[in-house]
Amino acid sequence: MLRERALDWANQPLGLFIDGSWRPTAERRPCLDPARGEVVAQAAQASAADVDAAVEAARRAFRSGPWREMTRAARAERLRRAAEVIREHAEDLAAIIALENGKTFVEARDDDMPDTAGVLDYYAGWIDKLYGETAPVAAGFLNYIVHEPVGVCGLIVPWNFPLLLAMWKIAPALAMGNTVVVKPSEETPLSLIRCVELWAAAEIFPAGVVNIVTGDGAVGAALSGHPDVDKLSFTGSTATGRKIVQAAGASNLKTVTLELGGKAPVVLFEDTPDVDAAVARCVQVHFSQKGEKCTEPTRLLIQDGLYDRFAAAVVESVQAIRLGDPFDPATTQGAQCGAAQHRKIMGYIEGGRAAGAKLLAGGRAASPPGSPDGFFVEPTVFGEVSKELAIAREEIFGPVLVLQRFASETEAVEMANDTPYGLAAGVYTADLSRAHRVAAALDAGQVFVNRYGCYDFASPFGGFKQSGWGKEMGPHALEAYTRRKSVWVAL
Ligand code: NAD
Repeated sequence: MLRERALDWANQPLGLFIDGSWRPTAERRPCLDPARGEVVAQAAQASAADVDAAVEAARRAFRSGPWREMTRAARAERLRRAAEVIREHAEDLAAIIALENGKTFVEARDDDMPDTAGVLDYYAGWIDKLYGETAPVAAGFLNYIVHEPVGVCGLIVPWNFPLLLAMWKIAPALAMGNTVVVKPSEETPLSLIRCVELWAAAEIFPAGVVNIVTGDGAVGAALSGHPDVDKLSFTGSTATGRKIVQAAGASNLKTVTLELGGKAPVVLFEDTPDVDAAVARCVQVHFSQKGEKCTEPTRLLIQDGLYDRFAAAVVESVQAIRLGDPFDPATTQGAQCGAAQHRKIMGYIEGGRAAGAKLLAGGRAASPPGSPDGFFVEPTVFGEVSKELAIAREEIFGPVLVLQRFASETEAVEMANDTPYGLAAGVYTADLSRAHRVAAALDAGQVFVNRYGCYDFASPFGGFKQSGWGKEMGPHALEAYTRRKSVWVAL
């Protein structure tokens, strides 16, 4: 029923949302249901002229001020109303996410939706809490520093959390008085389109404040290279992040925030306090959302004395995962998001086998009943993986877990940090001093001690090294969507 409702909605001409109204495009792009390999919608493919129109609308709305100059209370109230609308339609939005992405409906409803609404409430609360500063300058002067909105923000998002990651950017950008042009992934534009349709029906945002341009990477390139976009915030692959930095530099030197790839290690010492809980947590966080998460624990580094027991428990735990129809409540792992993603994951699995890694579980493409053409991959575990192998070094972004052995703390830290990525890392130990020592030594933007994968709106999220620039979440994200002005007054 939910899937049918999502299909019915998707089966209509979908346009771009520019300046408060929907615009058709000459060119369209098919959207697939990854669980069945079937086309379920035809989304609009924006042209460079459409991107110009969206940026112009956002600029007009920023300059003329219906949003920026709205009272703080009214702006917060609008953001809270936007959250409420999402909550009122959470089941239908979750069904569209499951349809376009292949994750289970339960994951979309229970993982994606509460935070998609919650982050709007969180940043609504920040609107009247960001203070300026005064500087202790020479006598005879007053120098104060105020935060201003940046202007027009281009927001480019990937397909793994199509609505949530869009909202991570939309919420702080709008809270600070900016206007936005959002580009969802070409794989998963539907949930954001539906969300904006609901907001438009509820008349929440003035025209031009929120604009949506859909289409492939060329649309993102037009946005990141646009001379009238002031700020670009991007979540996606490291390769695309590099192109965005180049485009920003070659156009107007807009500031850029990047949330990129990861290859997160978890170091498990022999004194891991509760081994069963650690196994359950690592397996759950890795394989949920079919392993398509940037912070997932992809490499478990296990100390010699714990290795055999831990590896056996991981393999046993993985057997309980059930692949199948994302709308079947018994399913715990859905379909990978698209043919290219499926091919990439299978390529890594085949490469790992060919290179001699020990396959402990899974390893095959799967066709659950009723889904012969879906993009499924068995939950896969490789053991005794040596650090040179591609499966230990490169981001797979799928249900493939790598187990590695280590002997000493020094070796573990070296292995954990031996990666160009630095998004997240974990450590499990009962030794308090060692926990802090290793947390300090791990070169990652988030470090989890004795419980991998915590997350809260109040805590900054963002990577080191080639995992990105800047932070999302917390008050730290407000830095990205404001600029500081220093005002000198001669007294
Ligand atoms: P991607 O880089 O292929 O695409 C992301 C977005 O960029 C899409 O909207 C795409 O259309 C657009 N794009 C493509 N080419 C572009 C160009 N030249 N200029 C501007 N935009 C362009 O990434 P993906 O495959 O959609 O997502 C998976 C990646 O995202 C993984 O690497 C994952 O680690 C990363 N990710 C990171 C985080 C994080 O917070 N660090 C969160 C989720 C996903």
